[in-house]
Amino acid sequence: MKLFENTKKGFFIARPNRFIIECMVEEKKVRAYLPNPGRLKELLLPGSTLYMVSQKSSCKYKYMCVATEKDGVPVLLHTHLNNRVARYLIEHDRIPGLEGAEVIRPEVTVGSSRFDFLLNHKGKEVLLEVKSCTLFSGKIAMFPDAPTIRGKRHLEELKMLSGGNRKCAVLFIVHSNAPEYFLPDYHTDLEFSKTLLSVSQDVMVKAVSVSWNKDISLRKTVKDLIVPWDIIRNEAHDSGSYIVMLKLNKSMDISVGSLGNVRFKKGYYLYVGSAKKNLSSRIARHQRRRKNLFWHIDYLRKYADHCASFPLRASSDLECEIAGALNEISQWNILKFGSSDCGCDSHLFGISDDPSHLPKFINLLLDFRINRLEYLLTACKCK
Ligand SMILES: [Zn+2]
Repeated sequence: MKLFENTKKGFFIARPNRFIIECMVEEKKVRAYLPNPGRLKELLLPGSTLYMVSQKSSCKYKYMCVATEKDGVPVLLHTHLNNRVARYLIEHDRIPGLEGAEVIRPEVTVGSSRFDFLLNHKGKEVLLEVKSCTLFSGKIAMFPDAPTIRGKRHLEELKMLSGGNRKCAVLFIVHSNAPEYFLPDYHTDLEFSKTLLSVSQDVMVKAVSVSWNKDISLRKTVKDLIVPWDIIRNEAHDSGSYIVMLKLNKSMDISVGSLGNVRFKKGYYLYVGSAKKNLSSRIARHQRRRKNLFWHIDYLRKYADHCASFPLRASSDLECEIAGALNEISQWNILKFGSSDCGCDSHLFGISDDPSHLPKFINLLLDFRINRLEYLLTACKCK
């Protein structure tokens, strides 16, 4: 299966908005259309290789970006083509558990909802929803990479519609052959993850990985991924650690409770904390500027803008380990800030450039959110 006749190489520069990227194509800086609403922070790094196709002359942008590269292998980004891939896999009996299924209709409306396919499988109707997954690291793939209320609703509707002569299924297509496991991304979207867990008795949950050749043709190998339900059940809770990113627009002295007067340089600050329960409301509290001053971070938040928060949900306590890793990638820290109860020098780290674009910070998140799960998977031997 080949999706495009001709592709050109490009190199990623920036993403001014969700559907537009800036890149170099044939040594010229151009803007191009990106048909993917995901965050893609882990894939689109400055200098990342892109696969571009020419668009019709009536289109606003000359090029469209259809794929990028990770570890030298193309990763399909064109989410609108994901259903073509799904159809090919179904019609070629490549989805374990759905061998022999036939497509009755794509884009099928049931009640007020629309699903990707209606299939006939051994005389039974199967309603199938397909999701494209491009978030992966090592042996693990996760979905979604941005919260999806629509995705959660789809799962609930599939559960309601299953029964009698109708089966319902959700298929995650992971665009890399490296992963062996698939998990919902409970760090980014806990609600979606809990919903997937709660519907898994009634809705068939399938995850397969595919991979692409350099001419964006589909490789033969399709892998059936393991969904480690026990680990998801254990880890997908509103508890664990978090990193809050703040930006201080000018250098200043700030009085920080028991620490007294502290000099803060202008720049970005990464603060690590943890919550044994209600992690989401703790993060929401850090986002608010007006509140009683309780934690050290509250004093800084009075003067600094909130940029982003990153939950790192886990059953184990990773806070101080994350602090150690942030210490390695940052430029300075504020001594004893947020670390009165532990042995760390600090839980607040400074960096002059926006960390959300820095590979070392993105990799740190991947390490604690995804790579760390490999230990749990090896220990439990989920099969
Ligand atoms: Zn600590």
